[in-house]
Amino acid sequence: RAKELGRDGIVQFSSDMAASARRKLSRTDELRQALLRQELVLHFQPQVDVKKGRIVGAEALVRWNHPKEGLVLPGDFISLAEETGLIVPIGDWVLRTACLSAKAWQDQAIGPIRISVNVSARQFQETGLTETVATALKESGLHPMWLELELTESLIMKDLVGSVAKMHELEKLGVKLAVDDFGTGYSSLGALRRFPLSRLKIDRSFVENIPHDTDDMAITSAIISLAHKLGLEVIAEGVETEEQARFLIESGCDEIQGYLFGRPEPDTIFLAAITNCGR
Ligand code: C2E
Ligand code: MG
Ligand code: MG
Ligand code: MG
Repeated sequence: RAKELGRDGIVQFSSDMAASARRKLSRTDELRQALLRQELVLHFQPQVDVKKGRIVGAEALVRWNHPKEGLVLPGDFISLAEETGLIVPIGDWVLRTACLSAKAWQDQAIGPIRISVNVSARQFQETGLTETVATALKESGLHPMWLELELTESLIMKDLVGSVAKMHELEKLGVKLAVDDFGTGYSSLGALRRFPLSRLKIDRSFVENIPHDTDDMAITSAIISLAHKLGLEVIAEGVETEEQARFLIESGCDEIQGYLFGRPEPDTIFLAAITNCGR
């Protein structure tokens, strides 16, 4: 009996695996088609300068406008894209589209605005990234100083020497480099000094417990003051309440991003929001 159960178990297991492999293959194919059919879209979330009291930048966040499923969030397809290598052409598209949008906004006389683009591990390791960025800048006409690349802490800490070299290449183009989700990895601020960075993005997990968790508040304000001493700017992500904003502003945080100031929105809605909030 035990033997039979075991055998059934194995049969069951392998057919489950086959089914899941098939699903993955067809999802991958669908994602590849999505890129060709222009089903990917960028939404933009405002980044507010606390001292100036206005929107100074936007983070470009990719979405999949799926014909049947509606808007699919990156949490549901970026890891598959990473795994299959599709992140490279998707990332190229994101970079080109983000640069074109930012340039178009600047030309529509809203003045200078910075665009931040997320770069994933595989994209960063890919040899062509610097060239892709250079091409996106050249084709859009966007000045490099208005493009920021967001790299995660775990990504840059994985291969210190390689990361430093790659980041210097990118910095030479004139673009800005930021550490995304800061505080969630193992790096110390000391280790970060080796990288040509412009700023840190404090992870939402610290912000969400303000003002209830005094430890997270202490960590947040310590990150801000240490970062400033190292010549880095700081932005906090995931800011949803007035209290969180007040605490961050009092702690000297330079910029704030979160639902309190705006959700990620399509190009036209984002542009209307900037125009209305009196830049
Ligand atoms: P991330 O770069 O840390 O982006 C911030 C995420 O937090 C976004 O989720 C954003 O919509 C969400 N968010 C912003 N403000 C708030 C808030 O006040 N409260 C809460 N609860 N959430 C907030 P999203 O758009 O689902 O993106 C998730 C992640 O997917 C991003 O995290 C980023 O790592 C990745 N991603 C997004 N777009 C791209 C892309 O074009 N390329 C790559 N490689 N990754 C991307
Ligand atoms: Mg980001
Ligand atoms: Mg983040
Ligand atoms: Mg995050």
